[in-house]
Amino acid sequence: MHESIYQETFENAAIGLAHLSLDGKWVRVNRKLCDITGYDRQELLALSFQGITHPEDQLQDAMHLAQLVSRRTRSYDIEKRYIRKSGDVVWVRVQVSVVFDPEGVAQFGIAVVQDISEKKQASLLIERMTYSDQLTGLANRALLGDRMQQAMTVARRRGRMVAVVFLDLDGFKAVNDLHGHVVGDLLLRALASRMKEGLRDGDTLARMGGDEFVAVFLDLQDTQAGAPMLSRLLSVTSQPVKIGELSLQLSASLGVTFYPQAEEVDADQLLRQADQAMYQAKLAGKNRFHVFDAERDRDARGHHASLERIRLALQNREFVLHYQPKVNMRTRAVVGVEALIRWAHPTEGLLSPAQFLPLIENHRLIVEIGDWVIYQALTQLTLWQAEGVHLPISVNVSAMQIQQADFLDRLQSVMAAFPTLQPHSLQLEILETSALDDIDQVARFIAQCDALSVDFSLDDFGTGYSSLTYLKRLPIPIVKIDQSFVRDMLKDRDNVHILDGILWIMRQLRRTVIAEGVETLEHGRALMDLGCELAQGYGIGRPMPVDQVPPWIQRWQDDADWQEVALVPRTAI
Ligand code: C2E
Ligand code: MG
Ligand code: MG
Repeated sequence: MHESIYQETFENAAIGLAHLSLDGKWVRVNRKLCDITGYDRQELLALSFQGITHPEDQLQDAMHLAQLVSRRTRSYDIEKRYIRKSGDVVWVRVQVSVVFDPEGVAQFGIAVVQDISEKKQASLLIERMTYSDQLTGLANRALLGDRMQQAMTVARRRGRMVAVVFLDLDGFKAVNDLHGHVVGDLLLRALASRMKEGLRDGDTLARMGGDEFVAVFLDLQDTQAGAPMLSRLLSVTSQPVKIGELSLQLSASLGVTFYPQAEEVDADQLLRQADQAMYQAKLAGKNRFHVFDAERDRDARGHHASLERIRLALQNREFVLHYQPKVNMRTRAVVGVEALIRWAHPTEGLLSPAQFLPLIENHRLIVEIGDWVIYQALTQLTLWQAEGVHLPISVNVSAMQIQQADFLDRLQSVMAAFPTLQPHSLQLEILETSALDDIDQVARFIAQCDALSVDFSLDDFGTGYSSLTYLKRLPIPIVKIDQSFVRDMLKDRDNVHILDGILWIMRQLRRTVIAEGVETLEHGRALMDLGCELAQGYGIGRPMPVDQVPPWIQRWQDDADWQEVALVPRTAI
């Protein structure tokens, strides 16, 4: 009797309800859940709980689930997206809790699912109001800042460029003075919407105030790729605009700058550069664009990293590799070293990769330098091997390098020059984002490298848009957790939970995890507590010239503080 009332309530509830098995399968679902997801009951039962989650929400989803199962929390409550059967996206609020038996053994999960699409729409609207310019509906300064940050991160990771364009109307003040503010406002609105039409999806147009605008073009192959958008902006701003009886015609001056540059620059600097270039365009006669010359600007400040100079450095053997140890904190074994390039510049001293690699990121030169790094590492491996030292070396591989059609052939032939090398001595680190750009190709690659006994690891994990679906498809055995997670773990409990979740997932996916950026003993202890034993960081050993590696190993073995860290028990499940 009670059972049937319960069943009826469950079935007819005005909210989505489900029972879940502990391995994440739908065991029982009600009618409302079918409505929300667009699947019928049988279809839903054949899918996993996460099977209908939007790929971008899978990581957070899995992390919460991990904490439930490892009993760090008893329930969670999140907002996420489902992909409906029709392919549409629906926002839902999902509350999940686990039911335990009296002995404390987890039995099953209960999920409550609420369609929150409408509420989400409303909050998106509010977001738009605070992030948009009231007059034109374009992005405002605040949103522009966010968009630029985002664009710069993506560009860095993908090896693409971003253009930042500062646009100032020519002769707008005269219109305002002559016809008044109302006309001026209408003109701004009309021009704004025309400019907006000329942009591609994903590009940003913001109003800075007055008659100043900023456009951000994403995902450019090179500096030339922005040219069509610039001419379009010039052309639409110089077409006449009809306002009532009036026909008004202006023009615009544009200043352009690109990211990345040889030196790391931030969003504010980019805006200043574009503004400065816009001023040059005005001086040169208006109705044109002027490109900021980063190189000349840098030269003016006395720096000399140019393509030519880097090419020369390669010829003159000015590059060196430093090696940073990777250890197992529990067994205290040194499991390998990472080769990190440095430029021993004759006048400027030792330069770090950030000071010269960005300049050649999209240039063939990075492939040549990459070849040199691999060759150098193989030479070092052979030398160590002759001394009876077995210390695998990992080298970083750039996106450009991996996209070369003959990358594998070249790797194969250089490996052939070192026939005595033990298998699995060489490891390639690829950035998460470059790996996920073309999953199938990278997956093929990994398989082929496997045949050469060359291993792979995924670098800076967590900085890109890693979806678990992708990671599952990519047979990369080792994942390096980005230092930002490790750095922040001592500051904030939330970061510990995130790390805990990532580690749990990686265990499920049978991946080896190594933590980067272990700067102190305390970081080491916290990681040991979570069961993460492989680590790399300044607190263990800084990148060092090759002759310092053997004495470092000696010191590491005797280090009393780290011997004590080795004893920290793992409490996480
Ligand atoms: P990565 O591969 O993630 O290398 C780790 C970076 O973190 C290194 O910086 C290392 O010195 C630094 N690091 C290590 N432990 C700590 C720590 O505890 N705290 C902090 N704050 N930093 C730590 P580095 O040598 O400046 O290299 C930066 C990046 O440049 C590397 O990041 C890698 O992506 C790239 N890179 C370095 N060498 C090469 C190379 O030969 N080829 C290519 N394509 N890229 C390279
Ligand atoms: Mg690396
Ligand atoms: Mg890294």
